Amino acid sequence: MRKFTEVDRIGFTEDYEGLTEGKLKLKQHLVRERNPEIIKLLKERYMQRYGKLICKVCEFDFKARYGDIGEGYIEGHYTKPVSSEKAVYEATMVEDIALVCSNCHRMLYRKRHWLSINELKQLLTNAVNTSELSE
Ligand SMILES: [Zn+2]
Ligand SMILES: [Zn+2]
Repeated sequence: MRKFTEVDRIGFTEDYEGLTEGKLKLKQHLVRERNPEIIKLLKERYMQRYGKLICKVCEFDFKARYGDIGEGYIEGHYTKPVSSEKAVYEATMVEDIALVCSNCHRMLYRKRHWLSINELKQLLTNAVNTSELSE
């Protein structure tokens, strides 16, 4: 008999179907990021401190780019590795979440070894420098 987990209850999206180890980890990661209360709290903190919500990697600002519809929109990325199924149930601290735009969030998961915020930031800097050189 299969154990019923938090991941099962929330359901899988098509992109993440399949149960290889890496994908299961990704699901757990995403499940963890779907705690609306903690993301809300974090957004409020950022708004109070900086007056806007910007991506920690590329500084994208949904409000500045899309206008009113982008107001208050940003994604939360859990920065600690999820090492076991048990970890899903551990408390998530505001400090463990980075606010990122949707593009950067996807890029963080692009490779099996997930990138850290700083690694992605570095890749972005390198890519920008390279494209400037080729102009
Ligand atoms: Zn970004
Ligand atoms: Zn994430």
